[in-house]
Amino acid sequence: MKTVSDLVAEGVSGRAVLVRSDLNVPLDGETITDDGRIRASVPTISTLADAGARVLVTAHLGRPKGGADPNYSLAPVAVRLGELLGKEVPLVPHGQRPELADGGVALLENIRFDPRETSKDDDQRAEFARELVDLVGADAAFVSDGFGVVHRKQASVYDVAQDLPAYAGGLVLSEVEVLKTLTGEPERPYAVVLGGSKVSDKLAVIEALLPKVDSLLVGGGMCFTFLAAQGYGVGSSLLESDQIDSSRKLLESGKIVLPTDVVIADRFAADAATKTVPVDAIEDGWMGLDIGPESVRAFAEVLSGAKTVFWNGPMGVFELAPFAEGTRGVAQAIVDSTASGAFSVVGGGDSAAAVRALGLPEDGFSHISTGGGASLEFLEGKSLPGVAVLER
Ligand code: ADP
Ligand code: MG
Repeated sequence: MKTVSDLVAEGVSGRAVLVRSDLNVPLDGETITDDGRIRASVPTISTLADAGARVLVTAHLGRPKGGADPNYSLAPVAVRLGELLGKEVPLVPHGQRPELADGGVALLENIRFDPRETSKDDDQRAEFARELVDLVGADAAFVSDGFGVVHRKQASVYDVAQDLPAYAGGLVLSEVEVLKTLTGEPERPYAVVLGGSKVSDKLAVIEALLPKVDSLLVGGGMCFTFLAAQGYGVGSSLLESDQIDSSRKLLESGKIVLPTDVVIADRFAADAATKTVPVDAIEDGWMGLDIGPESVRAFAEVLSGAKTVFWNGPMGVFELAPFAEGTRGVAQAIVDSTASGAFSVVGGGDSAAAVRALGLPEDGFSHISTGGGASLEFLEGKSLPGVAVLER
């Protein structure tokens, strides 16, 4: 796999470079609520610009339905990227030719404004990829740095890499390297913490990880399907009835650790009535929105002895203050085990956002992945099209 350092070594001054980044940040109106992905994309972009390249960045924002939609404009992202790079980053609308200067950076408007980007039809994607190449010229290079999208066979991720000399960006490289240690021979004990909303999203990764891990700690909304599989009533907590049987089979591994207490609420709201109860006392009409303090202590105990930790998915609805303590406590336990020498990886968009939102130190973890779906698919052992295409 050729890398961005190889490209710079080849000499890139005055050459156009198309960079696919992952700038899919959460927005509240036009305010970026977490700029982590923009910051993570800066090193590769500035390396190229500093070497004199004429950089055109492509990225998506959200899932606009079938065409340009101002609600999904990358305009606020162009502003923030410019602040971080210390130079203006013009936003280029589709259908307009970018004016690229040596050492300059421009951002193409949301790539998903063109439905061919995500088309399942190979010809449509290939056609769109050729139009992207036209924007930068056939002698340009392509750098794939959007780790969050490398599991997608999309025009700006996969197809352009076949039309231009393609290189892996620094972010993609470091992500792949870190995840390889988790699928290789991680130092033991190896503990995985899984949470988030749905078991069905994560069943495949649980199955792939179980043989490799020593303990799998389960919290978040998904723990209620496991608790139901053990015969507990879960009230109106999140429950995937069709996953109960498969969850029961996974429990036979003996490696899965479930919460023993939970924070329940009478409704899904920050000002709901709440109480902390043992898992066998979840009342009808109440929903579990966080793991309780006894569970946090038990999870922390396992984590304190771990040498490798992978965490995906918040332990509760951390976005609402009364249900954030489980996530905070477990995240703090991972920070502590990292300080005592464990190798820790956080994967998942919401988990990474939780680290920042709860004020935990980002450098308290060995690695925070920018790609939720991509990191899970990698750990499932799937080939990532956007990486495979760079390895040809
Ligand atoms: P990630 O993006 O890190 O992979 P997910 O997308 O799977 O994580 O899940 C994150 C969401 O799970 C958060 O928005 C959080 O509010 C929600 N969640 C966590 N615990 C619960 C729960 N007990 N009930 C409902 N939703 C929950
Ligand atoms: Mg998520």
